[in-house]
Amino acid sequence: MSQSNSSFSRYDRQIKIPQIGLEGQERIGVSCVAVVGLGALGSVSANLLARAGVGTLKLIDRDFLEKNNLQRQVLYDENDLDRHLPKAVLAEEKLKRVNSEIKINALASDLNAQTVDDLLEGVDVIVDGTDNFETRYLINDYALKHQIPWIYGGAVQTHGLVYVVLPGQGPCLRCLFPEAVPSHEAQTCDRSGILAPVSHLIASLQVAECLKILTGRNEAICRSLLKIDVWDSSFHSVDITPDDCPDPCSGCVSGDFPYLQRDQGTQTVKLCGRNAVQIHHWETRKIDFEALAAKLEGSGRVEYNDYIMNIEQPPYGITLFSNGRAIIKGTEDSGIARSLYAKYIGN
Ligand SMILES: [Zn+2]
Repeated sequence: MSQSNSSFSRYDRQIKIPQIGLEGQERIGVSCVAVVGLGALGSVSANLLARAGVGTLKLIDRDFLEKNNLQRQVLYDENDLDRHLPKAVLAEEKLKRVNSEIKINALASDLNAQTVDDLLEGVDVIVDGTDNFETRYLINDYALKHQIPWIYGGAVQTHGLVYVVLPGQGPCLRCLFPEAVPSHEAQTCDRSGILAPVSHLIASLQVAECLKILTGRNEAICRSLLKIDVWDSSFHSVDITPDDCPDPCSGCVSGDFPYLQRDQGTQTVKLCGRNAVQIHHWETRKIDFEALAAKLEGSGRVEYNDYIMNIEQPPYGITLFSNGRAIIKGTEDSGIARSLYAKYIGN
């Protein structure tokens, strides 16, 4: 998307930085960036990228807003809580008010092996705002396969990490961390908590790296693993050499991308620390909320809008998206989640 000269006044303070300049701003303006996950990290990075004038922003998030998000997720406010809209839709709405001169695509979808080709098509850089290694390995494999730079970011409690993956230039995330920490052992924001300043700091560093990549300032791109703790004020830049990864991953060595393999059928994913399970089908479907609400009449509280239907079945709650994906709250047992889905939504 091209930006007119008059619109450049908006970016005046950014253009004045010699490292960006008018040429850099033009490059930013014709770029497409995907932010995957619009929580603590993603809501900050999407905000900064929209203000910086990234021509096209893809905002990908599978979740909906909860009150405990407001402590750190800056794109949302109290008015949004009662609207029961996907975070991607809320974020798009907010950011269109921030910058109406760029293209913003809200994608309220789960990024997985089935959806990744559609969702990430045409992006120049991927910014990680996820909270789990499964999705990060998927992003990593996709990025390696298509030679797209991506920026890993993670934050929990008071500490965080940033690492830029440039395919073909140094270790990828899977080389660096060959095995994901088992999810039941991993620290998550939901379980372990998170201080907002650390997520803001990590996301800001990710965006700075993203802008270096978009403007072609390759010499400035950080090639270290950044480790930061805001509580003990420690900032470490850990050099990564090939010796640190004596056993490179199968993606880097032989173009083997296991995380892009599609599983057929229904998938269930435990949403760690959330006491919830996500269910989605290989084939997306279009749910007729009106017809379903009529069918469910008399069996608990049912509310819906264009995007989401909430079905209350204490002690469980089902949030159903219009493409058939559902998040079942109140259990981490995928069997229970599947049977609730079958009972209230169908197979
Ligand atoms: Zn690798």
